[in-house]
Amino acid sequence: MPEAPLVLNELGPFFYDEEDVGLAVLGDPIAHSISPQLHNAALRELSAKDESFKSWRYDKIEVSASQLAETLPRLAELGYRGINLTIPHKVEVLPLLTSVDEEALAMGAVNTLVWDDSGWTGRNTDGYGLEQGVHEDLGVRLEDSSILILGAGGAARAATAQCLLRGCETVWLGNRSLGRLAGVTEALGTVFESHRIRTFALSELPPEIEDLEDLLVINATSLGLREKDPSPLSLDGLPSDTKVYDMIYNPPETALLADARKAGMTCGNGLSMLVHQAARALEIWTGEHVSSQVMLREAKLAMEVAP
Ligand code: NAP
Repeated sequence: MPEAPLVLNELGPFFYDEEDVGLAVLGDPIAHSISPQLHNAALRELSAKDESFKSWRYDKIEVSASQLAETLPRLAELGYRGINLTIPHKVEVLPLLTSVDEEALAMGAVNTLVWDDSGWTGRNTDGYGLEQGVHEDLGVRLEDSSILILGAGGAARAATAQCLLRGCETVWLGNRSLGRLAGVTEALGTVFESHRIRTFALSELPPEIEDLEDLLVINATSLGLREKDPSPLSLDGLPSDTKVYDMIYNPPETALLADARKAGMTCGNGLSMLVHQAARALEIWTGEHVSSQVMLREAKLAMEVAP
């Protein structure tokens, strides 16, 4: 079982040595997060080569939406220098930052904060994590694929922006709620040419999709997180060389991935994305190359004991 998270109200000045560096993931809920195992394993490896990393550590802290604004300056005072954000903070944090890089602005969301003495600055490593994960698990490059993304939440928006930034001509974006879909396309349309984003309702796959070549389907909905959840999309009629990636990694095989496997399609789950977004964040904070293999090994170990 992952360790229990730290709770904000009990957070004391536990960084006694000025050289200590704190990193943490903030979220609500956060108890399930395996990020500390991944990062602390990579920090152990870094400290074998450079002793200064022995004083670095990565925590998970339960922080609700209403606590975020007061928490960020407090963490800086306590010695935290890098923060990852997960549900529900990735969008709401934007006005609390002194700057946000171009990629994260295009995504409209931030998952990595860096302290630079003037305040917290924002980056987003989710799109990079997805790109690397898809390449590692499915052997495809985003820019060489016809992309179909399911969902219109923060993860779908980051994925769409990453594909468009990488030069994909068009991205097909499908969602259950059409109102939310329109909101996301409107927001992305302020950064990218709007004709590059084509939308559909999850219940009605447009017939043109069946004719697309090198199709990559990416699930960025949360449908599949529960064991008995149905698949968000029927794969019937899609070419048999379609590749399928599900951002969900727990459970390791969602109904979508089971359908893809039965149809003989190459598929992969979101563990590789989790690992690569984490490795990139640690590289940003440390300025060192971080081995994603160490993190992947730790993630697989953590998943063996995950509930
Ligand atoms: P979010 O903002 O809450 O968005 C949830 C999305 O799921 C919405 O598009 C929503 O559609 C859809 N959805 C929820 N229930 C549904 C249902 N019953 N039928 C059809 N669609 C449904 O969440 P998020 O932050 O974007 O995250 C989405 C998923 O990506 C989560 O499973 C998360 O764990 C995963 N993720 C993985 C990684 C990784 O590193 N592997 C990173 C980020 C996110 P409506 O708009 O219609 O409600």
